[in-house]
Parts: sequence; structure tokens; C-alpha cells
Amino acid sequence: MQYQNSLAFAQQQDKEDQLAKYRNQFLIPKDKNGNDWLYFTGNSLGLQPKSTKEYINQELEDWANLGVEGHFEAKTPWLHYHESLNKKMAKIVGAKPIEVGVMNTLTTNLHLLMVSFYRPTKTKYKIVIESDAFPSDRYAVESQLKFHGFSKDDVIEWKPRKGEELLRIEDLETIVDKQGEEIALLLIGGLNYYTGQYLDLKRIAEIGHSKKCVVGIDLAHGAGNIQPNLHDSNIDFAAWCTYKYLNSGPGSLSAIFVHEKHAKNKDLPRFAGWWNHNKETRFNMRMPFDVMDGAEGWQLSNPPILSMAAIKASLEMFDEVGMEVLREKSEKLTGYFEFLIQEIGSDDIKIITPKNPKERGCQLSIQVKNADKSLHKKLTENHIITDWREPDVIRCAPTPLYNTFEDVYRMVSILKDLL
Ligand SMILES: *Cc1c(COP(=O)(O)O)cnc(C)c1O
Repeated sequence: MQYQNSLAFAQQQDKEDQLAKYRNQFLIPKDKNGNDWLYFTGNSLGLQPKSTKEYINQELEDWANLGVEGHFEAKTPWLHYHESLNKKMAKIVGAKPIEVGVMNTLTTNLHLLMVSFYRPTKTKYKIVIESDAFPSDRYAVESQLKFHGFSKDDVIEWKPRKGEELLRIEDLETIVDKQGEEIALLLIGGLNYYTGQYLDLKRIAEIGHSKKCVVGIDLAHGAGNIQPNLHDSNIDFAAWCTYKYLNSGPGSLSAIFVHEKHAKNKDLPRFAGWWNHNKETRFNMRMPFDVMDGAEGWQLSNPPILSMAAIKASLEMFDEVGMEVLREKSEKLTGYFEFLIQEIGSDDIKIITPKNPKERGCQLSIQVKNADKSLHKKLTENHIITDWREPDVIRCAPTPLYNTFEDVYRMVSILKDLL
């Protein structure tokens, strides 16, 4: 194995990599000597595709030259701009086009979806969430409970067992078996932001539905990273952002999934605006509200084109590559990363992310015994960009579109020296 643990081997892997050319389609931040940073935080903010500027400039030009006529006359008419994004996004998450819409921002969408899908009664009102949920999701859930007159203590936590880091599906099963009559909603991070664990969405849906609980998934760390097959999973709804693995720029828009089985349900309560009103009569104004079918039935406002232009630039690249090919490289790259970390051979380092590639995306969460934030600082000083989570975890996401085997090799050799 000595041979694989070498720069020459890593460089050879890059030579054989069919996706290697995509790195050159991104702007990689550089140090003052002109060397590329080793960027491992595509799970937090994906890098900028070189084409993004062109796509945004096109819209600025169309706006300059056409004003309001751009809604019809722009190169990609603004009126229907979002529709092509919805189709491409649907492919990325394994959904039907009617099930997916790009709109709003992530936490906003979680709320809008809970307006429709969290329908508590006096006896069935609790919400299950994982104990390590992203804070925004936890706050959203607690505030929904309070909004309906319940307490934040009506959250049920799905926790790892004592001494363990990962969630066990059988523990969710026990929670739902025992307390399902009181549970209205499961809202679970499909790919945990902290541990990198990818959960079995289909199983979660089965467990939830066995006691008539609605099942919603936050896919912020899954979209563009794993292949979640949302339609087949049979979950009720999902939402994710586009600025992490989907490389669409800071604070960019979110997307939602609403399963086809709810697409034509006009009785679902929901908040309304002119853009979830039927597009045939939208501009007749003052018509009684007539909700759109499918995911577009949650889009309240007219689409922000400049942000959508960045999403369009990115999704076209994903569309060209395809998730299957991307995932294949991703498993290899992360597998190599894992191998190199194990080769450090230190008892102080533990990867808490699942070993099985089917139970993780590209991220590895590395626990370093007795480490503190100074380790992260030293990595950053070496232009290795990772994410630190208290008390002792470094989260690192080699992304298959722009990270290389050489990036991974260099990162681990510097980490080894710092330890
Ligand atoms: C990144 C992330 C968010 C961020 O929400 P915004 O509304 O986009 O600020 C929320 N939830 C999860 C699980 C995330 O990973």
C-alpha cells in the first residue's frame, strides 16, 4: 500500500479521471504565491463556476436593453426562467419535474412546507428531529410548535446511542412505534451536516407512514452530493439550498420537493402569492386564488433572475456530467481520502462518518483527540480550507467536480505534519 500513499499515485489518479477537466471550469482561490488553496468546504459554500459571470451578465444586459420586455424577450425569457431549472434540479435529486421547484431560501421553504404538512391536532402534534440537526432546522421546528400553541419541549430527539456518533434507524423505529400516535411530523436531515451520515430515506418514510406521520427531509447536504431518488423514497416533502454542493453562490435560492401524490391536492392549507396562482390567469389580476399543481404551488413571488442565473450556470454543468458519473468519482476520491487518513496510523484520529460509501456523501468528519481550534487555524494558515466543529471535529468535503486526488494527498500530508 506504500505505493498508493504517494504524490505520484495521486497524480496518476488525476490523469485517469474523466472529470478532471471540470476543475478548470471553476475559480479556485489562490494564496499570494499563486498556488491554489486546498478547498474542502464545498459542503458550506461551493466554488464559483467560471461561467457564472457570463450567465449573470447576460441578464444584466437583457435588463439594460429590454427593461420590462425582458420577461418575454430576454435570451431566456424571465417569465419561464425557473422552469428549466426545475427540470434539471429534479434530475439531480431523482424526482419528476412536477415535484421540484427552485424558490425562496431554505429555512423559509421549511416553514412554507410545514404550513402545509405540519397539521397538528390536540393529540397528534409532536415533531421528531435528529439531535444533531442543523440549528436552523431545530429553530424552525420549535417555532412551528409554538406557533400552533405547543411547546419546544414537544420536539422528540432521535439521538445516537451513548458512546456512539451515528444514528441507528432501529432507534427511530422504536420512537415511532412507541409514540407514533402523538407524532405529526418527522423532519430529518437526510445527510447529517455534522457526521456526514446519509440516512435511508425510503426506510424513514416507511417508518413515519406506518403511524400516519408526515415525513419531510432537509437535503441541504445531499443535493448535488448523493443520489437520493426522492420520488421512489416516497417521502412527502424536502427542501435544500443551492450554495453548498450546487455551487450557486452565497445565500442563493433553495429548492423544494413535494411528492407527486400531493401535487394536485388543492385542499392542503398553504400561504399564497401571485406566483403560486395558476399561470394561465396569473396576469388577469384579481382572480380568486387558484393554486398551481406540483411544487410550483409553493412559489409565492416572481423569480429573482440574477440569483437564478447563477443556479442555471451551475445546473448546466451538473446536467452535462450527470449524478451517476459524479457519484462514481466521489466515492473513489473520498475512499482515497479515507485510506490516507488511516495511513497516518494515529490513535488520536477517528473518522466518525460511516465507512460504507452507501451511507455517506463526499464529506468525512474527522475527530482529533485533544485537538482544539488551533489545529484548524494551522490548517488555514497552510491554505487548507476545512470546517471546524466544536469540540474536536474537522469536516472535510472533497467535491468531485473540482477537488483532485492531489488535493487530498497534499491535505493529508500537511495534517500529518501538524499532528
Ligand atoms: C446549510 C443549512 C441550512 C441553512 O439554511 P438557510 O436558510 O439557507 O440559511 C439549514 N439547514 C441545513 C440542514 C443546512 O445544512
